[in-house]
Amino acid sequence: MTRNIPASRRDLVRGLAAGGLAAGTLASATPAAAQTPPAQTPPVQAPPAAQPAAAGAPVLSNPRDRFPKPPFPAQSQPWPALQSRMNPVPDCGETSYRGSGRLAGRRALITGGDSGIGRAAAIAYAREGADVAINYLPAEQPDAEDVARHIREAGRKAVLIPGDLRDEAFCARLVEEARAQLGGLDILVSNAAYQHAQQKLADITTEQLDQTMKTNVYAMFWLTRAALPHLPPGAAIIVTSSVNADRPSQFILDYACTKAANEAFVKGLAKQVIEQGIRVNGVAPGPFWTPLQVGGGQTEDGLRSFGSTTPMGRPGQPAELASTYVELAAASSSYITGQIYGQTGGVGWP
Ligand code: NAD
Ligand code: MG
Repeated sequence: MTRNIPASRRDLVRGLAAGGLAAGTLASATPAAAQTPPAQTPPVQAPPAAQPAAAGAPVLSNPRDRFPKPPFPAQSQPWPALQSRMNPVPDCGETSYRGSGRLAGRRALITGGDSGIGRAAAIAYAREGADVAINYLPAEQPDAEDVARHIREAGRKAVLIPGDLRDEAFCARLVEEARAQLGGLDILVSNAAYQHAQQKLADITTEQLDQTMKTNVYAMFWLTRAALPHLPPGAAIIVTSSVNADRPSQFILDYACTKAANEAFVKGLAKQVIEQGIRVNGVAPGPFWTPLQVGGGQTEDGLRSFGSTTPMGRPGQPAELASTYVELAAASSSYITGQIYGQTGGVGWP
């Protein structure tokens, strides 16, 4: 079905999808309290399960077929979107991630840990033996409580610290509170971000620019600056960047600039703080099925085809990134620093 939308808007949406990009919010920010019920669309069918393997053979499945593919059902939510209201609900490893003690006794703070990629990292970290504090916006409390349940079911401590990262004083308090409640801190995952697509540079208001920069860049500086004096040798800092850092979409210029800043920060800071025995790395996802995609009026057409232009033929699910976040935090990766791990579904970057 083709929706009756202006050509320019269709082009915008098609351009985002064609770039293999995290299509951003297309409508103005709206308080979560104003959220409307999700569209009445049937739940997406689960992809085919892997065939039972012959005795002794590994269970394998084609990665193209492992997770839902476009077309996706129509849906949209005001920003910040809730993951629990998405269809299909993103897979963050809730039923699949198995730990093996790789982060035993570690203490992690993850921003944007309520949903999407941060949630997948939080669940994996707990199952690997870490206690985990997550930060999120107050409107995302239901998603955050669900993550806390998974962390506790893994037998680890969950600390929920809602608050707005655009506030410098809050960033300092967040680190302090996480340290106090976890009894220390040795993993910092700077993952929260704001993204809002605009067709023309002139459409990016100073207010939007400020929100994108503060959330994606300033908070990363403020959190890291507050955490560094307390991080022990062996600690890890991980920043979530994007394919947009290197291959910017013309529709999310402010966001792409912040993602390039994330990567410059990772590469430069890594050289500085290895003196302290601290490693710094980045993860650069391509299109992943998360609330970022539905948080503010993404068109039906844009969501329907999301991820279709990657060689995988589908978007990634956050569960597919979890092991990368574990790897970059684990002591076994002691020679890995200043790196950006691309996970783009085969578009050939970085
Ligand atoms: P997401 O919506 O699940 O996570 C983003 C989180 O940012 C939100 O849950 C929210 O808690 C947090 N946030 C936003 N503004 C905030 C503020 N002012 N204060 C506190 N928290 C705030 O979406 P996601 O896709 O999992 O995003 C996680 C990271 O992945 C982001 O850095 C994003 O840029 C990056 N990324 C995502 C994609 C994709 O296709 N989904 C692609 C490339 C990069
Ligand atoms: Mg969220």
